[in-house]
Amino acid sequence: MTNIFEYAPAPESRAIVDIKPSYGLFINGEFVDGNGTSFKTVNPATEEVLAEVAEATDADVDEAVKAARRAYTRVWSRMSGAERAKYLYRIARIIQERGRELAVLESIDNGKPIKESRDVDVPIVAAHFFYYAGWADKLKYSGYGETPLGVAGQVIPWNFPLLMLAWKIAPALACGNTVVLKPAETTPLTALLFAEICQQADLPPGVVNIVTGAGDTGRAIVSHPDVDKVAFTGSTEVGKAIARAVAGSDKKVTLELGGKAANIVFDDAPLDQAVEGIVNGIFFNQGHVCCAGSRLLVQESVADEVMDRLKRRMATLRVGDPLDKNTDVGAINSAEQLAKIRELSQVGEDEGAERWSAPCDLPANGYWFAPTVFTGVSQAHRIAREEIFGPVLSVLTFRTPSEAVEKANNTPFGLSAGVWTDKGSRILSMANRLRAGVVWANTFNKFDPTSPFGGYKESGYGREGGRHGLEAYLKGADA
Ligand code: NAD
Repeated sequence: MTNIFEYAPAPESRAIVDIKPSYGLFINGEFVDGNGTSFKTVNPATEEVLAEVAEATDADVDEAVKAARRAYTRVWSRMSGAERAKYLYRIARIIQERGRELAVLESIDNGKPIKESRDVDVPIVAAHFFYYAGWADKLKYSGYGETPLGVAGQVIPWNFPLLMLAWKIAPALACGNTVVLKPAETTPLTALLFAEICQQADLPPGVVNIVTGAGDTGRAIVSHPDVDKVAFTGSTEVGKAIARAVAGSDKKVTLELGGKAANIVFDDAPLDQAVEGIVNGIFFNQGHVCCAGSRLLVQESVADEVMDRLKRRMATLRVGDPLDKNTDVGAINSAEQLAKIRELSQVGEDEGAERWSAPCDLPANGYWFAPTVFTGVSQAHRIAREEIFGPVLSVLTFRTPSEAVEKANNTPFGLSAGVWTDKGSRILSMANRLRAGVVWANTFNKFDPTSPFGGYKESGYGREGGRHGLEAYLKGADA
């Protein structure tokens, strides 16, 4: 007789996606071969090669920029905002209609659990296009003028491939710019499916161009002389290189970079909810989240209790097949990222912090890392200072609100923070003193297209989302 508690997986079918053996570049509304070689994209949960993808050369990037420039001057910047909005609404609706396909493909190429790609990424992607479609004919009320910049060169990372694409493309198009976008080399497939969606929406050729490739392709985009605007999301290291590359040019730049967020739990917080928030803060998307709550600051009087409850909760996390609807934590996106997480975790042990990993069976193939927590961490430890970008939490304690603020702000980053407390007045005073672009109160990792997102210090500059997100793509009120 079978044990009624035996685990029964509930895998989503991958039959809905049609992955082609090879992909070209999407330039001027068509898929073209390009002049370069190709690279492989793999499923990080199985190491299966999914497809060969074209590596765009400087000449290909030049073609894409030319197509974007033509579309900008001849069509897109001349169109009324109301007309542009129709295309954006159409794209948003197609994203909803093809939502399952997008979610399954995202989980296969990225490794994230289907319940996240299906319930978080894809719905917010559609919402972002709906939201900015609404702005396209109302730019005169934006406060940033109505004049677009021209051609936007956009480079995005692998942690939220489709969501980062939406954050970049939706406001750019709404404001009348055209774009050349490069997805990350480990996750190009949903951007290429998005290119098909642009064709399906009859978007005029050249308004959106997708060029695939690695760092060299990204460099060719950001340094192209006919690109008016550079929008980059990725590591602080590459962000600094881009800032140096465009210095002295008149390109407008926004940089969304790394983070090392503090998630601060006071002793009056509802602890079970706080534990859910801690888990969501660091294990959502395998911790591959720029605003992940990777530093838990817990008030000393409740530290032991929080740690007991947290470990109990972590032991129930289901790690495994991203397409299983029960999976909480999927695969690490690449072998390189797994090596980085392992290395920094080893440093944590060597520096004397105490490591605890959730007991779970990891699949034999693919890239996996068990949800892990380090206690006994001090401010000087590298695991408290550097972005791990994986499912690894560092725990520090504090006694007073001022100590919490001081520790939270003691970082080169300033992207996000969380505060857990019963007192509204404490939330407000903490939010005012925390040097972070987003402060969540009694929740974490909540995103909405109406709300601006962005950082301070080494987390970058500029905002994406909301009315503020329009500023990056308009010339300004006096233009
Ligand atoms: P990465 O910087 O290595 O790569 C990001 C993108 O830049 C990729 O498409 C890559 O091919 C490209 N690139 C690499 N070198 C380049 C160069 N010299 N010029 C132009 N483009 C270049 O980052 P990653 O490892 O893909 O992503 C993880 C990082 O992204 C983390 O640090 C994370 O915090 C950050 N991130 C930030 C946000 C945010 O909104 N602040 C959001 C998501 C991720």
